[in-house]
Amino acid sequence: MNAPTLIPRNSGKGCDRPVLQERGQREVFCGLTGIVWLHRKIQDAFFLVVGSRTCAHLIQSAAGVMIFAEPRFATAIIEERDLAGRADLHDELDAVVGRLLERRPDIKLLFLVGSCPSEVIKLDLGRAASRLDSKLRERVRVLAYSGSGIETTFTQGEDACLAALVPELPVATAAAPRLLVAGTLADVVEDRFKALFEAMGVSVAFFPPRRSGELPAVGPDTRFLLAQPFLTDTARALEERGAIHISAPFPFGEEGTTGWLRAAAQLFGVSLSTFESVTASARGRARTGIARHRAALEGKRIFFFPDSQLEVPLARFLSRELGMIPVEVGTPYLHRRHLAEDLNLLSDDVLVSEGQNVERQLDRCREAKPDLVVCGLGLANPLEAEGMATKWSIELVFSPVHGYEHAGDLAELFARPLGRRDRLRV
Ligand code: SF4
Repeated sequence: MNAPTLIPRNSGKGCDRPVLQERGQREVFCGLTGIVWLHRKIQDAFFLVVGSRTCAHLIQSAAGVMIFAEPRFATAIIEERDLAGRADLHDELDAVVGRLLERRPDIKLLFLVGSCPSEVIKLDLGRAASRLDSKLRERVRVLAYSGSGIETTFTQGEDACLAALVPELPVATAAAPRLLVAGTLADVVEDRFKALFEAMGVSVAFFPPRRSGELPAVGPDTRFLLAQPFLTDTARALEERGAIHISAPFPFGEEGTTGWLRAAAQLFGVSLSTFESVTASARGRARTGIARHRAALEGKRIFFFPDSQLEVPLARFLSRELGMIPVEVGTPYLHRRHLAEDLNLLSDDVLVSEGQNVERQLDRCREAKPDLVVCGLGLANPLEAEGMATKWSIELVFSPVHGYEHAGDLAELFARPLGRRDRLRV
């Protein structure tokens, strides 16, 4: 394997594509939702939300009730007397954490997760976490991040969590893998990417890891691929540690996955013939999986409301590999540099909008009469009642959809609501 060479930062048309900027009423979930997939990934971590009963209900209903396992998330509820300033919240929090750790010796990493109520009363969870961390360091690491829904969207919870974890990453030595993949992936997807990279002779580490004791090392020699497009703060924190982002499309579908793998392979000097031979059979399986759903999706018009921040790469996948026609691709935040490769592959006549004014966007959607609308749960039922087929964007984050082996599953997630609507019409 040759020494890595830097590929110039993307400066194609994606970086200056016109985008409709929207500001106004928004319909999105909050960042607490990220706990659902983060607690499954980091298996010795615990997420203690400091919030209200609403926060407890949200996280419980999103994650479901675990019958056979001890849960690894909970809510420390801020009561009225706390809001009225009649209790010392730091003392109460210390007592809750003490009881939790006594009961759960398996916890090695504890996140104090802020919420709207804790932000409104200006509870300094960062200070609480560093105080608890210095007291308990031998037993458990304690970190804090915010999952509040004030001015954020639901995938930012993962970004905030991982950004809080970056300062804990050890300093890379010469023996550390130089390629890092940042972003939570289902274990099965991670294993497949690892096998592909290793077959090309590239050793790779993943962040977040499955256990808190396996944090990957990072340093100026680290080159990182993002597995998710919503990791703005995490990427910035990695760059502050000297790591360099590898510009690539996101690994959705056969084309996106190939572009993502190839960007790293080129950087690490993997020959084209090695790349082709390692990826050929998986690419073939991806194309077959996608082809199964092409008839159902080809020519269908799709409208994205801003929610998951996956909208741009998904629109690229659906238009280029399944022949769908994106009418509007709304996204809560558009990181032009991270999304440049996907934007470059999206047809110029697709309207990309950033932010939300939900009333104006609903008007555009009704006028466009798309075949399928991708949106949050709050908009899905009213739009279904108006006769539109919808896809919940949150499902796209909960399901394994990255890489070659899941390309067909990803296509199916969009084909299913159209099939259901056709059956209902019969
Ligand atoms: S963090 Fe805010 S938006 Fe999320 S459940 Fe709690 S109160 Fe609601």
